[in-house]
Amino acid sequence: MNQDCTPAPAQDDAALRDAILSKMIYDVGGREERASPRDWFLASTLAARDGIVDRWRRSNNEVASSGRKQVCYLSLEFLIGRLLSDALGNLGMTEQMRRVLHGLGADLEEVFAQEPDAALGNGGLGRLAACFMESMASLSVPAIGYGIRYENGLFRQLIRDGQQQEVPEDWLSLGNPWEFERSGITYDIGFGGHVTVGPDERMIWQPGEVVRAIAYDIPVVGWRGRWVNTLRLWSARATDPLRLDAFNSGDHVGALAGRVKAEAISRVLYPGDESPAGQELRLRQEYFFASASLQDLIRRHLRLHGDLSTLPEKYSVQLNDTHPAIGVAELMRLLVDVHGMDWDEAWEIGRATFSYTNHTLMPEALESWPVSLMERLLPRNMQIIYMINARHLEAARAAGASDSLLSAASLIDEHHGRRVRMGHLAFIGSHKVNGVSALHTGLMKSTVFAELDRVCPGRITNKTNGITFRRWLLRANAPLTRLITDTIGPRVLDDPERLADLIPHARDAGFQESFARQRLEAKQNLARIVHLRTGVQIDPHALFDVQIKRIHEYKRQLLNILHTVALYNAMRAQPMGNWVPRVKLFAGKAAPSYHRAKLIIRLANDVARVVNRDPTVRNLLKVVFLPNYNVTLAENIIPAADLSEQISTAGLEASGTGNMKFALNGALTIGTMDGANIEISERVGLENIFIFGLDASVAVPLRRDGFDARAAVAASDELDAALDAIASGVFSPEEPDRYKGLVEALLARDDFLVTADFDSYLRTQRQVASRWQHPADWWRSAVLNTANVGWFSSDRTIRDYAEEIWRVPAGLATPPG
Ligand SMILES: *Cc1c(COP(=O)(O)O)cnc(C)c1O
Repeated sequence: MNQDCTPAPAQDDAALRDAILSKMIYDVGGREERASPRDWFLASTLAARDGIVDRWRRSNNEVASSGRKQVCYLSLEFLIGRLLSDALGNLGMTEQMRRVLHGLGADLEEVFAQEPDAALGNGGLGRLAACFMESMASLSVPAIGYGIRYENGLFRQLIRDGQQQEVPEDWLSLGNPWEFERSGITYDIGFGGHVTVGPDERMIWQPGEVVRAIAYDIPVVGWRGRWVNTLRLWSARATDPLRLDAFNSGDHVGALAGRVKAEAISRVLYPGDESPAGQELRLRQEYFFASASLQDLIRRHLRLHGDLSTLPEKYSVQLNDTHPAIGVAELMRLLVDVHGMDWDEAWEIGRATFSYTNHTLMPEALESWPVSLMERLLPRNMQIIYMINARHLEAARAAGASDSLLSAASLIDEHHGRRVRMGHLAFIGSHKVNGVSALHTGLMKSTVFAELDRVCPGRITNKTNGITFRRWLLRANAPLTRLITDTIGPRVLDDPERLADLIPHARDAGFQESFARQRLEAKQNLARIVHLRTGVQIDPHALFDVQIKRIHEYKRQLLNILHTVALYNAMRAQPMGNWVPRVKLFAGKAAPSYHRAKLIIRLANDVARVVNRDPTVRNLLKVVFLPNYNVTLAENIIPAADLSEQISTAGLEASGTGNMKFALNGALTIGTMDGANIEISERVGLENIFIFGLDASVAVPLRRDGFDARAAVAASDELDAALDAIASGVFSPEEPDRYKGLVEALLARDDFLVTADFDSYLRTQRQVASRWQHPADWWRSAVLNTANVGWFSSDRTIRDYAEEIWRVPAGLATPPG
């Protein structure tokens, strides 16, 4: 069996070779004898793409002829990463491509490495959208992902003198062989201007500015190549002609200003994670992509079905967080103003079409826009929002809602300078609203949406997140995949719940040894990457203790750093103690304006510098901060992790998906009872996960009422010493006060309960070390993690959405052709 574990590819080697050479000559314009790895990347991608396009056309024809319902997944972010290895893997072509390229003198891994990592997202939310796109294709759920074709995705992170620097990532600068520009698919998007009443009482919006959206399509191939969906990304083009008179008279800037402003919409991804950007350009982005996507959907629906009253039978529109929520008002505008539909019918159609996924409960992360900005930028949409709100509040009042309930349920927040609550708009415009883990959904009902849940009972439902196992196991960890299929057979590749067949092998010494051996290989690979990128030598036999994710106070990298310092202190005090050698590995980006998060990055780097130079702990502790965390780096780190740090303040991580990737690959989790950690613990068993800290029922009220960090520090010698070392400049001798403010702020107001959870974390870390000292126990737990997390496949999540929210059939289609 080849590595793809799939039937023989459609094409024989000679045909693939000819196809690649033909692409090399006619499309790349290269010469095989002088071709660079990038030329080979282009030629092999284009060759593979032809086969994908054939399947894509079949899928599209099938949808058009059957009239099947389609899902539109609206997301401002798609953190897709590299696509070639994914596409080849799903087509069962990886080994064939390796062979053929080898015959041509090229190396497949080097070819893979040429592809830029498409980072059109910040973190978990964008990666979820990418996993969902892959799962929808794999389950033959007809779907279009709608987003923005950012010219610059998430910034590239450099670490200079221990500090984050942001440089633009221009992933498109050398062209993108996956995308098709659809110059015939364009929509005009208006901004500003004013609204008048037409002769037939219809409202007429005359925008002051019009920007054109142009579609770029990327095919998304499902598992075994049975189905191909579309990721449609919008690019902004100016509509006003270049002002030649101004240009010729020498005012080059003035001549171009309008165009620059229009095209800025698809220029950059906002780099904030869990914090709304709040700027006008962001609202322009949101409206631009929501309007273009809905206009596209209406046009296709009219072409295929002719009648807008059947829209919800043919389309389900999923709003990934509130970023596309303006679409609720925009669909009303399109149906009522443009297509002349009656308001009540349009509202029912919209609600039956939309559903909304909430991703955060943190009040500071809930999106809202000033009414004044909305009125200026989207005057007609603002009128519609008022109208929606009036009817919504009227219905609630008629049902007996009190004034305080009405004020909390209103789309307009009157307390903070009049703002539109986008979560509320998405909620009332949708027939289903989902949270992303059981805990998070429960908290949604009792906190942010408590009032709306009373006004619209039964709308909130849970859909625990998932990850695509094709990328996060089959591709990221081919050796483990091979071990699994050799042990329990290849059917697990199509049915992840079959991983449970590994359970009987968990105690088997031979199996444990194979499991540990493949792990060692992955750790050697990571050690090479760490050395290459940071110059630090790490021992692959040490315990790899890994925290990789966006840097955010609620994710509590600081807690991990405090443990690192406490461990360092303890090791120095007793260098001959019975220590487990550890590598503490961090990676993650901070939003450029999030100063405290950037300071935490600097602290991790400063601690790394001091610890790694200290001969006393040379063979015991290493600290690494790997720069520029992205999907590709995650794929290299996760298979090599022994311990997965999932240590957010309970109640604040909506789900997490990093936690699932690690457990699937056999890392043990140290974590709080937060997000999906809870459901992971239920499945792997409490004896195979290290749970610590306050749970949400305690943490949520404690955060609200505040607590005394100084008392917690006074009660813990280790914590006191660690904070003291940081505050007094042990890790920043050239600037001893560098972290004084950070420590003082923590003591004055520990919003994320770092000091409250420290002792429990420290004790639990000691249990981790003692389990590591009993390899049979450790590896048994590791195998049981892999064996018990089949449920976290995004195929399961998508099946649940398909059945309960979208009401579309999900399953495996018969192979095409
Ligand atoms: C999975 C993933 C995330 C989300 O990680 P969490 O630990 O759930 O926050 C973020 N970024 C990348 C690149 C990922 O692959």
